Amino acid sequence: MDKLVHAIAAEGTVRVLAATTTGIVSEAVRRHQTSPTVSAALGRMLTGTLLLGATLKDFDRLTVKVEGDGPVGAITAEATKDGTVRGYVKNAVAELPMKENGKFDVAGIVGSGTFYVIREAGYDIGFRPEPYIGSVPIVSGEIAEDFAYYLANSEQIPSAVMLGVLLSSTEPFVTAAGGVMIQMMPGANEHIITMIEDTIRHAPHVTEMIREGASPADLAEMALGIIDFEVLEEREVSFACNCSFEKAVAMVAGLGREEVEAILAEEKQAVMTCGFCNETYLLDENDLKKILNEFS
Ligand code: ZN
Repeated sequence: MDKLVHAIAAEGTVRVLAATTTGIVSEAVRRHQTSPTVSAALGRMLTGTLLLGATLKDFDRLTVKVEGDGPVGAITAEATKDGTVRGYVKNAVAELPMKENGKFDVAGIVGSGTFYVIREAGYDIGFRPEPYIGSVPIVSGEIAEDFAYYLANSEQIPSAVMLGVLLSSTEPFVTAAGGVMIQMMPGANEHIITMIEDTIRHAPHVTEMIREGASPADLAEMALGIIDFEVLEEREVSFACNCSFEKAVAMVAGLGREEVEAILAEEKQAVMTCGFCNETYLLDENDLKKILNEFS
């Protein structure tokens, strides 16, 4: 089971979010049938969005989107305050050769463009206020650096972000995934920042640690080195989408009576696929007739 830890250090001036997301990324890869490089990119986005979303308040929803000119087109991830995340890409089968160092060319597949963060509040209790939308240019395309750049430049929170996805060539393809996000709150002391930067520079890869069984608290400890920390919260996190058969029915009904009659006459069924999670809902003849009965 994937887990996320929210911790603080240095009298609350340093906030640490760490998560293992192997299950989440496996689920996303299975649902969207992504190529290896796209899997790495989507996995980093899902993990980064989950970490950033861990500080959401009640009724908030967070969407992060990278829109670049690379072959993947765009990647979107959305986290809720309940610790769920979902996401999708524009072109799941885009692929590029590996880089000379044997790593996936995530920056190449993303390209240059814009990194968006959209925060919505109150959506699930019926409020529809204007969402907050922050955006910065894609500075790296490797995703972790882009989260850090966004936090520093758009939210004035200096941060260090590590995101990793380790893949294998056989199912379930994702061997390990996870990440750590360290946010320096107002009052964080320069000495502590330097110590953390130095620790991270010499730290092992998060995915190597997760493969060997590291928990989110172990990842936080790795990133903080000798600095003590206090875990405020540990929770389970998962890939989840809020689509349902009932919502698919409501969407078909929303097409209107004439359109539903035409579908019933011509195709005798309607197939709805959720863009976020790739789940397919099949409405058969009976379901379509039931919708038409509701109109009369
Ligand atoms: Zn869905």
